[in-house]
Amino acid sequence: MARILITSALPYINGIKHLGNLVGSQLPADLYARYMRGRGHEVMFICATDEHGTPAELAAAKTGQPVADYCAEMHNTQAELARGFRLSFDHYGRSSSPQNHALTQHLAARLGEAGLIEEVSEEQVYSHTDARFLPDRYIEGTCPNCGYERARGDQCENCTKQLDPTDLIAPRSAISGATDLEVRETKHLFLRQSTLRDRLDKWIDSQNGWPVLTTSIAKKWLHDGNGLQDRGITRDLDWGVPAQFDGAPWQGMDGKVFYVWFDAPIEYIAATAEWAEAQGLDDSAWRRWWRNDEGAEDVRYVQFMGKDNVPFHTLSFPATLMGSGEPWKMVDYIKSFNYLNYDGGQFSTSLGRGVFMDQALSILPADYWRWWLLSHAPESSDAEFTWENFQGSVNKDLADVLGNLASRVTKFCRSKFGEVVPEGGAYGPREEEFIKELEKGLRSYETMMDNMLVRRSAQDLRMMWTLGNEYLQDAAPWSTFKTDPEQAAAQIRLALNLIRVYAIVSRPFIPDAAASLMTAMGSDDWTWPEDLGAALYNLPAGHAFAVPDVLFAKITDEQRADWETRFAGAR
Ligand SMILES: [Zn+2]
Repeated sequence: MARILITSALPYINGIKHLGNLVGSQLPADLYARYMRGRGHEVMFICATDEHGTPAELAAAKTGQPVADYCAEMHNTQAELARGFRLSFDHYGRSSSPQNHALTQHLAARLGEAGLIEEVSEEQVYSHTDARFLPDRYIEGTCPNCGYERARGDQCENCTKQLDPTDLIAPRSAISGATDLEVRETKHLFLRQSTLRDRLDKWIDSQNGWPVLTTSIAKKWLHDGNGLQDRGITRDLDWGVPAQFDGAPWQGMDGKVFYVWFDAPIEYIAATAEWAEAQGLDDSAWRRWWRNDEGAEDVRYVQFMGKDNVPFHTLSFPATLMGSGEPWKMVDYIKSFNYLNYDGGQFSTSLGRGVFMDQALSILPADYWRWWLLSHAPESSDAEFTWENFQGSVNKDLADVLGNLASRVTKFCRSKFGEVVPEGGAYGPREEEFIKELEKGLRSYETMMDNMLVRRSAQDLRMMWTLGNEYLQDAAPWSTFKTDPEQAAAQIRLALNLIRVYAIVSRPFIPDAAASLMTAMGSDDWTWPEDLGAALYNLPAGHAFAVPDVLFAKITDEQRADWETRFAGAR
């Protein structure tokens, strides 16, 4: 049994995520976690909401709530949606937790003591009315390029020109509207990533079989232009992990917090500590996953994320852990994803274009979405969601192939043999041939899943379902029954056992349907079919089963047309 640590990139707190976000990290991470548990491994699957930073403050201000209340509420909303999609996190934490505060400050102090943090003086805009320094996004004014009156200090939304706050004409505070602004000198902490460049480079080179998408992004950041740059890790905000604390190896950081990109990945570790506390366990329970000197040496650590998150996970976060001089568990494999587009364009949170997690669950159960999203995961390139494709895939794969097989076999058995696994007859050459083919499919499926090849895993699973249908088509127990009821009984016995095997192997993709199939087969033995032949004898003659409810309803053309219109924009 192996020990596998899995983290999904943290969804940001400021709103409900769309399906493109979901398939870019959390959903494939869940697939892998479920599969590894199914194979009998010890899994720790961690995610959390990423709660600090300017966008959280701005989103809270919009709702008129204190930022802490806003984050608590949005965390609960996101956790509820995660449960709705059956994301099987061992813990869904919060980057604002006391554990993350303590660990972020601890690591920052270690980096400071190691000489890897520099104090840098910068000029920044100060607002007298607000009595605070303003981050770039908190300053608004007229764009010098296009004349747009609501341009932000970092960028003009209208003409997309990158700006400095001092470029703005008639600048004002986005918080209060105050115009009594002045440029003042202030101090920030910078992480000296550039001094770790060679160590990071060597570490990346020593990794085996990382996807090209991951290493090419990392190498670009390491070497392009002037190479890896030092980065500011503090901001003038109230909401976050205070940068001045007891034991800090610097002074004068009062009123500043760590920048969100510094504390967010540390939350992977802190969320595991949150898990231990929630379970009533002591610190050794989480440290055995994260400290190489306390048991994590045999842990395999896999991260899932969208490609935009790769630089933070291949460079910044490793720089933090390496630079601390402490034996923290470093990532072993990074699985990154391209983007999912929506119906000829992009998902857009601001325009409400595309399907968001809450909307998806309001029209169809989780398994429908899980199957489509995973079987079309944007792995080697960007992928596109269209309603036509979604309808076709659900109706064919789930309803016609898997659902139909389960329904036909159980109903036929009930009508001819009753609701028990029939006795009599034996598996013959046709059955042996089918089992051999199915075994090939299963071993290939396992290889794809072991290697996190999501689309190809879905293809193999679909092929296993199809093989079952082809076998039944060919054996035709409904005809055999008229001439040789014993042989028909053996064929149906095999098919009922096949349904149980499908439940086990399909569970990582479609957990609810898998549970329905397992319950219908009167079993709760989820043991992985290492020996497929034996697994297909698992339910003996005389074992009671039930006809399952309709597993998957087909999507009608009317529904499709309705949804196409409804999700076109303006949420
Ligand atoms: Zn402009």
